[in-house]
Amino acid sequence: MMIIDSHVHIGELGSFDMKPAYVMASMEKYGVDYSLVSSGAAAEFGQQNEPMPDDWPYDQYSANRLTVEMARQYEGKIGVALWCRPHTEGLNDRFLQLLEEGGAYVKALKFHPYHSMMPITAPQIQPYLALARERGLPVVVHSAVDEWSQPQYVYEAAKAHPEVNFVMVHMGLCSDNGEAIELVGSLPNLYGDTTWVRPESALQLVRQYGAHKLLFGSDNPIDGVDTYAHPFYRTYFGAFKDWVKPDEYELIMHGNAERLFHL
Ligand SMILES: [Zn+2]
Repeated sequence: MMIIDSHVHIGELGSFDMKPAYVMASMEKYGVDYSLVSSGAAAEFGQQNEPMPDDWPYDQYSANRLTVEMARQYEGKIGVALWCRPHTEGLNDRFLQLLEEGGAYVKALKFHPYHSMMPITAPQIQPYLALARERGLPVVVHSAVDEWSQPQYVYEAAKAHPEVNFVMVHMGLCSDNGEAIELVGSLPNLYGDTTWVRPESALQLVRQYGAHKLLFGSDNPIDGVDTYAHPFYRTYFGAFKDWVKPDEYELIMHGNAERLFHL
């Protein structure tokens, strides 16, 4: 069966160095057919919210170019989620140029509220969301319990932009996922993913609101080539298959991503 990972990274970010070769090797090793990739090198602030070093070599354009080049190199296996920098740069001409150059490889816009120190509802993000609506691009948003990343903000943005599909990545990292599941279930254009989500929580979303609401994602290769060896991902690749109906499993592992990202 086809497997699409909707949440994969490349690029340096803090202690992580996520090389395209790691992505390709892990996909091969674990039988993942397609990855939607964003570049952590576009992070605006570091792991402790410190500014990026003065000699940091990447900006919004060059960090995302790495992903576009990867998609071109591995044609048919990689899609691009452009990692946006609303705090330090914003939607500028270079970003539009990136969209041009990325062409059909660009499948989504990605926001990381923690690394941008800004909620998805912030005014600086509105131009990007207008662009997402114009171009029919889904918006992928990191969610967690810190002050910028709360699930509630993703819900508010999705509610304010009913024509844009939003994916609430992690469904509230470091929470019990309960609030996130309710929020994801309450809007037709809001989806959850499995990135570091306990399989029991993912199952709860499917049982309560349907398998069309959940996408497989992992943060591969954040822990290296064997990121998928984590018990959560072992379960999604294995036992989870028997927890849901076959057609539900197909939706979660690839069908929903194909529909949302127009793959
Ligand atoms: Zn991530």
